Amino acid sequence: METIFDPSLPYAWQTSEVPGTLALSTLMSINLRLTAFDPKRTHSKSFRYTQWMIFEPTRHIPVERSPWNPLSAAAYIEETFERTERAVAIASPDQTRLPLYDGIAGVGWAQHRLHKMGFGDMTVDYLPLVEQAREKQAKNLRDHDAVSKALLVGELGFRLTEHNLAPDDHLLVSLVRVIEANEYNPACELLSGSPGSILVACSLIDDVPSLQSFIRRAVDQLEAQLCFSTLGDYRVWMTRAPSGRFYDLLGMAHGFAGNSLSIIRAFPYLSDAAVSNWAETITRTFKRTASREGNLANWPVGIDGKFLVQQCHGAPGIICCVGELMNRGDDEFDRLILDAGELIWQAGALEKGSNFCHGTAGNGYAFLKLFRATEDQLWLDRARAFAVTAISQSKEARKKEGSGQPSLWTGDLGLCFYLESCIEQTAAIPTLDYF
Ligand SMILES: [Zn+2]
Repeated sequence: METIFDPSLPYAWQTSEVPGTLALSTLMSINLRLTAFDPKRTHSKSFRYTQWMIFEPTRHIPVERSPWNPLSAAAYIEETFERTERAVAIASPDQTRLPLYDGIAGVGWAQHRLHKMGFGDMTVDYLPLVEQAREKQAKNLRDHDAVSKALLVGELGFRLTEHNLAPDDHLLVSLVRVIEANEYNPACELLSGSPGSILVACSLIDDVPSLQSFIRRAVDQLEAQLCFSTLGDYRVWMTRAPSGRFYDLLGMAHGFAGNSLSIIRAFPYLSDAAVSNWAETITRTFKRTASREGNLANWPVGIDGKFLVQQCHGAPGIICCVGELMNRGDDEFDRLILDAGELIWQAGALEKGSNFCHGTAGNGYAFLKLFRATEDQLWLDRARAFAVTAISQSKEARKKEGSGQPSLWTGDLGLCFYLESCIEQTAAIPTLDYF
């Protein structure tokens, strides 16, 4: 079976298995003593030379000094769009990856959206490709009921793309059906759990008002899965890994931040008291689990205690998921989020590449979020410096490795949306903030 999870995960996740189902009672009876990290630890030496450093300098490269040029960014998007159409046209279906995250469903979603934004001409008929890929993925995941319905790797991502490509009542009914089938999910994380279904449901409320009750039920289920930490007065979600073990992960893709994003999106459908409680619960966890070095802040991935600075794990994704809770009168939280933004800048671009999930473009989105929250030009300038760097990284990688397979979350298409945001000074993230 293909590996469907992020390769940057801790080693324990590197398995070909997919999470199965687990009864809630079993989940809640597990010993939840958390030994993953000690948020109270201090850092007595420079973070660059201690084992507790809050970022790893070897994972980063300097930001380019070339000036931002919106015309170059637009040209990159146009060129990438056309290159993607050509690549899909000659791709072998047997060798094509499948899901919204990094497969043909994500490519179809992205090309359709970029075309609507005014880029390129669509020459590929994506609908049959996505339908075939959905059926193939259903077979791959037939023994893994929980993950099979998820947004980024399961059926929901395919149904969403099909509805976008050819909206009609029949496809909308199929989309709503798969959303409502994911009310409870033991994975308890964004990539393969129920939070993705909550996000898509929130985006469909105008067309399907009845989804409000699904959203409330799904949030109730997430609340039931919330656990008290034994390390302090805050709460955590325990993400179930493919190995069957549980991890108190904090980031966007598999942890507390991703779940929090879905709940923040659900705020309009919750009571005032619930919104207030959730805001307090979410901000408290991030305040209690942050590690600081001077005016920099980051959070550990989870069980192995290492620090990453990526959209999927670490400060960038956390800012993107919960930065909206700034400016609510909690000065400590606001300062923490700004210090996490400073860390991303001080760390530099990501050596790993230019993509959205664990590359420079994904980290740059945190600057765009901070620009929207503070209206401070500094953050927009930093976002655009990352954009310039990411374009160079992408072109360099293409020279070395060829075009590779197009991908929304792990390839050049994610970078296209980031560049568009840098041009338009917006901060919404594809398949997290809009669908
Ligand atoms: Zn990643």
